[in-house]
Amino acid sequence: MSEINIDSVDADSIFVEGEPIQDQKAPEGPIQDRWDKRKFGARLVNPANRRKLRVIIVGTGLAGASAAATLGEAGYEVKSFCYQDSPRRAHSIAAQGGINAAKNYRNDGDSVYRLFYDTVKGGDFRSRESNVYRLAQVSLQIIDQCVAQGVPFAREYGGLLDNRSFGGVQVSRTFYARGQTGQQLLLGAYQALERQVAAGTVEVHTRHEMLELIVADGRARGVVVRDMVTGEIEPHFADVVVLATGGYGNVFYLSTNAMGCNVTATWRAHRKGAYFANPCYTQIHPTCIPVSGDYQSKLTLMSESLRNDGRIWVPKSGEDKRDPREIPDADRDYYLERIYPSFGNLVPRDIASRAAKNVCDEGRGVGPGGLGVYLDFADAIKRMGRKAVEAKYGNLFDMYAQITGEDPYQVPMRIYPAVHYTMGGLWVDYDLQSSIPGLYVTGEANFSDHGANRLGASALMQGLADGYFVLPSTINDYLADGPFESIDASHPAAAEAIDQVNGRIEKLLSINGSRTVDSFHKELGKIMWDYCGMERTEDGLRKAISEIRELKAEFWSDVRVLGANEELNQALERAGRVADFFELAELMCIDALVRRESCGGHFRAESQTEDGEALRDDTDFAHVSAWEFGGDGGKPVLHKEPLVYDYVELKQRSYK
Ligand SMILES: Cc1cc2nc3c(=O)[nH]c(=O)nc-3n(C[C@H](O)[C@H](O)[C@H](O)COP(=O)(O)OP(=O)(O)OC[C@H]3O[C@@H](n4cnc5c(N)ncnc54)[C@H](O)[C@@H]3O)c2cc1C
Repeated sequence: MSEINIDSVDADSIFVEGEPIQDQKAPEGPIQDRWDKRKFGARLVNPANRRKLRVIIVGTGLAGASAAATLGEAGYEVKSFCYQDSPRRAHSIAAQGGINAAKNYRNDGDSVYRLFYDTVKGGDFRSRESNVYRLAQVSLQIIDQCVAQGVPFAREYGGLLDNRSFGGVQVSRTFYARGQTGQQLLLGAYQALERQVAAGTVEVHTRHEMLELIVADGRARGVVVRDMVTGEIEPHFADVVVLATGGYGNVFYLSTNAMGCNVTATWRAHRKGAYFANPCYTQIHPTCIPVSGDYQSKLTLMSESLRNDGRIWVPKSGEDKRDPREIPDADRDYYLERIYPSFGNLVPRDIASRAAKNVCDEGRGVGPGGLGVYLDFADAIKRMGRKAVEAKYGNLFDMYAQITGEDPYQVPMRIYPAVHYTMGGLWVDYDLQSSIPGLYVTGEANFSDHGANRLGASALMQGLADGYFVLPSTINDYLADGPFESIDASHPAAAEAIDQVNGRIEKLLSINGSRTVDSFHKELGKIMWDYCGMERTEDGLRKAISEIRELKAEFWSDVRVLGANEELNQALERAGRVADFFELAELMCIDALVRRESCGGHFRAESQTEDGEALRDDTDFAHVSAWEFGGDGGKPVLHKEPLVYDYVELKQRSYK
């Protein structure tokens, strides 16, 4: 291993470089045949043997519920876990805008290849071609599956499924159910899951939080969970473990994610040997309701679908403080339409977010603190009529009015970028297996398909592709070697994991300091937003790393967690999650510091084109950064997986 010296916080190097890695499962040959080839090559498990194999799935969002239902139906013995009181409350329920599929129902030139191309380009050429192509292929099956389940997708007057457009594309391929697509899809997956519960193949454990992974004899063999009502610490064992535990955007404290979203499951697995890939790739969504005060703990997304008909603008002059309705067109700057005439208001999220930041930095932002831009429906209402706008976006308009007290039918909405999604996650191969044998990772929790920027409506597509189609066709290849030797709580690896959980809980409850968990989380979030948010610099990232280290030390000596373990204790739950966020935050900043290029959601101020666009460096950075845990107090180890492009030409992204 060569040691790398960056003149940084502790200057004497902040990470070590390990051996490069390869995706050993990625098939070769023509891209359109690779998925079929892998499915055929993967070993099968006969139905009688499936009954002898146990699968743990942590997470009941779209990625986890779909996987549990499908593997249960296949005949495996599945245990499913979530921390909510019902699988239906997983964060996926919040998804508003829609789900992509290359059905070409609009006959507007869409195809599997175009969805593949748009997604690779949208991800700023930092995702794997084979994975993205498979995603585009499987997208067709997802819609059929969900329609068969009865998911009430929006339909046109004639009864055909309707579509709309999302950012970064010029076709309409997004299927939707008003502004509640995630909820309807989750109800579909939940029904399928409950059917298996009734059939006896799936056992659901709600209000159980996974706090450790059990890795025995080199394989993932179980999890340690805390019963969040009684505090009981329980080990559960299986032949294979799947994490479908969602994203880690809440490391920023303020985000559009549900308050409970956290990194604990994947971070605990990382500490046990699972590589964490591209942790610095964060998506900042351009259309969120701006921060309105210090008391806030959550930000609200206004769906990207609104950019189909809403027009984004700021006054041409920063001095112009008139009521927006009184500002004539000549004095408005529809800056996205001006700078990016081909894609206009539907440029990808990273581009729209940076453009909003730029006009606000120029002093032309609107609303309190000048941190906002207008999203205006006046033209759409004139063109389509209020009724049509209500039918398409009614619930989103109501939500905006309830939160801001302003009527968006009368005055333009005010929006500003906010943290929304994390493209980084546990490293997985083509089979969705992590670097720990027997640990699979699906949905937002893995890093696999979106590169440095995710296009809208593609997270639901990926979660359901993973859960309904990909995992069920690959996990059998691993399980064909099972059942593995039975283990129980007396196995040293299990005993160690249980001790680790108990030790942390005791430590957190014993500090008895002076500061609340939330006050630490908020301060951590501000460091991350200021230095590892929409724009990152070498100096800022170094500063962030040293501030995170200091704050983490203070947390472990001065946090105050009241109550006991043997009860419902939300302060304790949060404390464990924030402790993991500290470690993740440091790795995110190291990853961002080491990646001295701009790409997608990762904008390094030192690496931009003359007109301020992200400037990639394909010579030095066309790779996935997969980080290995370096031990407490040790240095993380970077393994690079080269990205090879045989079908898409690497070029500077342009939406002009
Ligand atoms: C406001 C909003 C709107 C969105 N709209 C869209 C959209 O229109 N289209 C789109 O494609 N994407 C959208 N997204 C993104 C998309 O919703 C998510 O990426 C996706 O739903 C994640 O699904 P998932 O199954 O991977 O994880 P989640 O739905 O986050 O589920 C995670 C599951 O893991 C469980 N879990 C986590 N940690 C633990 C633990 N330690 N122990 C036990 N259980 C645990 C949770 O209980 C939960 O069941 C939106 C996101 C937001 C925030």
